[in-house]
Amino acid sequence: MSRPVSFAPGGNANLFARLASGFPADRSAIFLETDDGTRMTFAELLDRAGRIASLLVASGVQPGDRVAVQVEKSVGGIGLYLGVLQAGAVYVPLNPAYTPAELAHFIADAEPKVVVCDPAHEGALAPIAGRAWLLTLGTAGEGTLVAQAARLPSEREAVARVGDDLAAILYTSGTTGRSKGAMLTNDNLWSNATTLHRFWGFRPDDVLIHALPLFHTHGLFVALNLMLLNGGRMIFLPKFDPDRVIRLLPRATVMMGVPTFYTRMLASERLTREAAAGMRLFVSGSAPLLAATHEAFEARTGQRILERYGMTETGMSTSNPLDGECRAGTVGPALPGVALRVAGSEGEILAPDETGVLEVRGPNVFKGYWRLPAKTAEEMRPGGWFVTGDVARIAADGYVTIVGRAKDFIITGGLNVYPKEVETALDALPGVTESAVVGVPHPDFGEAVVAVLTVTSDPGDVVAALRDRLAAFKLPKHVAVVDELPRNAMGKVQKNLLREQFAALFG
Ligand code: AMP
Repeated sequence: MSRPVSFAPGGNANLFARLASGFPADRSAIFLETDDGTRMTFAELLDRAGRIASLLVASGVQPGDRVAVQVEKSVGGIGLYLGVLQAGAVYVPLNPAYTPAELAHFIADAEPKVVVCDPAHEGALAPIAGRAWLLTLGTAGEGTLVAQAARLPSEREAVARVGDDLAAILYTSGTTGRSKGAMLTNDNLWSNATTLHRFWGFRPDDVLIHALPLFHTHGLFVALNLMLLNGGRMIFLPKFDPDRVIRLLPRATVMMGVPTFYTRMLASERLTREAAAGMRLFVSGSAPLLAATHEAFEARTGQRILERYGMTETGMSTSNPLDGECRAGTVGPALPGVALRVAGSEGEILAPDETGVLEVRGPNVFKGYWRLPAKTAEEMRPGGWFVTGDVARIAADGYVTIVGRAKDFIITGGLNVYPKEVETALDALPGVTESAVVGVPHPDFGEAVVAVLTVTSDPGDVVAALRDRLAAFKLPKHVAVVDELPRNAMGKVQKNLLREQFAALFG
């Protein structure tokens, strides 16, 4: 049975206030536990958030001011996230892997009032932080943030915000272009959390394994917001480790992961039907889940992975259903309240099963790119449709298949090649584990198709093996075998790096 969620209509639309309105009345209830048995109650969570909000407000942070955060994943980071929201400020999480040079760009762009970093990086960040107030937060809670906040009151009202005010700016992962700040409102995040909460049938006794990063929409706005809304409870891990997660499955009911979590779990013999018997929901997203992984996971555990699709700009837009058909290779139909359509190259709306660029409309769609009105206008169609840049088709029954990124298209000799089609054919060859197909400059063809493979055994002449499956213009002009495909923290293959690596191949 799903727990009722209060919308507090007409009340404070601050996301913190909305989430906190659903916290258990008994504040001694456990919100999270870590692998080593440390537990945090709702009372402690509210205490941490409240003191941080007090510190921000007392130091002059105004509603709408940005607070940029580059810290390693830790329990303290959750208090910081909530404290920033409670103070009415805009949370700007940054990947801890960013170098000082990359950070300089984000800080200049977001112009935060406050920057919070790991104590070890304070020296490197001081010259970059500019006029922002630099505070530190370490994984054990050490640093100036908590020390300064400790002196201040923890009890305070959330600063009043309306639904359309910003709650967060999330920089896109930028695997196909320059990273842009996606402006997300209180309403965007609240609507997505409440929709998923109902759609995935969350129950008060659910326990989620949280092994995703906290700077990305998946770990922050899907996994964390849902468990805040659900009134607990999480097993909070600093990072994903397959054996550790498998060992924890009997204590949990839900897991959210990127496809690499599932392939790595499958590589462990400890993943068995018994180990997963108490789980009710495995969710995958942020990158395509191979149908083979879906099938192997079901064969091993008896559980079907539920694949959903979303992006930084929209939160979640589609999901396979909890009780209906979980169709491998698809990301399911549009979530309730979300509308989808597919457009052709002239912007014309295509019929079911035709392939084009996916557009999304709904309360989940972001407010625009931070300080990039022209870029925002380019990606929006009249009527509030956002152009995702993902190439997809929608079946007559609404199930969506993602074919790839529009920007990953290869045009070779004037003909379009969808990398996904070539990758699917390559993945089916004996000996091939995974593949990534990119286009690189070619003097004759404009672009040439290059296939990069990981293998378990010698796959032989893969081009010959594909010859009767794919038209000649789609066949790779070069095949490279690598130990591992380059991926970002969310498991997405970084095709930009592969394009760079092979850029001079035909030059
Ligand atoms: P991000 O903004 O980092 O969440 O990346 C969003 C992009 O990830 C989308 O535009 C898709 O290209 C990709 N993506 C997310 N979920 C899926 C999925 N289930 N299948 C295929 N691609 C996905």
